[in-house]
Amino acid sequence: MTELRGVGIGLGVAQGPVARMAEPLPAPDDGPSGLSGAEETARVREAVAAVARELEQRGAQAGGAAQDVLEAQAMMAEDPSLEAEIDTRIGAGRTAEFAVYDAFATFRDTLTAMGGYLGERAADLDDVAQRVIARLRGVPAPGVPDPGYPFVLVAKDLAPADTALLDLDKVLALVTTEGGPTSHTAILAREKSIVAVVGAVSATGLVEGEMVIVDAAAGVVTTEPSAEELERARNRAADRASAAAAPITPGALGDGTPVPLLANLGKPEGAVEAVALGAEGVGLFRTEFLFLSANQAPTVEQQRESYTQLLAAFPGKKVVVRVLDAGADKPLAFLNDAHEENPALGLRGIRALRASEDILREQLTALAEADAATDADLWVMAPMVATVEETEYFVAIARDYGIKTAGVMVEVPSSALLADRILVDADFASIGTNDLTQYTLAADRLLGSVAAFQDPWHPAVLRLIREVGDAGRIHGKPVGICGEAAADPLLAVVLVGLGATSLSMAPTALADVRASLLLYSLDDARTIAEAALAANDAASARDAARAAAARE
Ligand code: PEP
Ligand code: MG
Repeated sequence: MTELRGVGIGLGVAQGPVARMAEPLPAPDDGPSGLSGAEETARVREAVAAVARELEQRGAQAGGAAQDVLEAQAMMAEDPSLEAEIDTRIGAGRTAEFAVYDAFATFRDTLTAMGGYLGERAADLDDVAQRVIARLRGVPAPGVPDPGYPFVLVAKDLAPADTALLDLDKVLALVTTEGGPTSHTAILAREKSIVAVVGAVSATGLVEGEMVIVDAAAGVVTTEPSAEELERARNRAADRASAAAAPITPGALGDGTPVPLLANLGKPEGAVEAVALGAEGVGLFRTEFLFLSANQAPTVEQQRESYTQLLAAFPGKKVVVRVLDAGADKPLAFLNDAHEENPALGLRGIRALRASEDILREQLTALAEADAATDADLWVMAPMVATVEETEYFVAIARDYGIKTAGVMVEVPSSALLADRILVDADFASIGTNDLTQYTLAADRLLGSVAAFQDPWHPAVLRLIREVGDAGRIHGKPVGICGEAAADPLLAVVLVGLGATSLSMAPTALADVRASLLLYSLDDARTIAEAALAANDAASARDAARAAAARE
């Protein structure tokens, strides 16, 4: 068995035989055209228009985000500057096929060079070119294969037109060798809940018909799986299906110990979906997400409006709002102006707010006003707290504004190690496992080359979490988890075993975690956590927890 790594989209797992996407059409040759320029131009116009209309039609059929993507592609096909590029080549005596091929390639290279979001759109342009050339040649456009049985689709990167209309009865999972988590393939796979691993570079070696397991939660494609692995994957898929169908109950362990399940949100509009999926409140509202593109600090009024909208969606429920966490992966123009060699270790989070205390004061004002206008139970916390002194500072300033429940995030090892002292002042702690893992393992959370270190199952991270859990128990104060770790169904059990009293996650993960917690008692959770803690590395901790869980 071999494991191919990529970026998993969602938490699903699926298995099946590989079917590869047809290779692109061969490049047209650069020979002179036997037709007149006018004839070639007429052929191109007809082909481009036909492809654009077909894309629009597919969009209308698919609806949702897919429709937007396909309509954008149709517009790309008929872009006037692209048309001018094609005409120039036809004017120079080229065939319509070659003119399309070459003009689109030039555009694609320009987009790729821009990188980022526009770079991700390059695949969309390739797809349009292939469709136009296929039309000119009178052959079917390359697309999703149909081997006659359900399959795992393996492609370089899928065109939106193909992803949008995937027949989910036939496509068990999707693996791409290119494309990242922000590619259209990923966006559409997420929307349609297709089990997907994208950017799995080594998947180029997968051959037609071979059996694979696609584990989106782990971002892994397993080749030549053993019978035991296949069965485990099957059981997990069945568990997910029944979790999704199970009634929504308040989060709890099997022995009735309550473990409130909360939502991580970045904008108030997300509240509706979170409530529908059974969120019992909000465990992390990332306020900086509201202002990522702002050049000026937001006004008190602007903020009050957003916070009121959020709080109003959760009457009587706990809503934990984090004050602006600016810096490193989330720079805010109005808070982070200095150049720093290592922004993750720089003036970020509470440090940046302290340096611009007016902004913190205005945010607390807006929060207190929104609180007064609504019935939610508002908790406010500070990000990236590293010392007891920072805790005292934040709790005192929050109290000045009448914030009743003020806490800190534990994302830096120093604050985990001193959690017993931090919780003297703070009303609660919320562990951000994403940053806690980054700082414990000294591995940039955005850097692919060190992604293997960014694993919250690492026993060093678990030990730090236990410190905080123990401190919470001693002081009788809540300890929440709001990093991605809380969304891993088995790790969620471990976290409760280590002392977490609530778990907050992306709303789509709630059903899986709810179902997993119900399988174990608090004693079981503690035993499973001990097994993970005793391991030497993340992979063994995961295996040890699985083995212990199977015994419970
Ligand atoms: C974390 O670090 O785990 C966390 C929840 O905060 P963010 O991901 O926003 O940095
Ligand atoms: Mg963080």
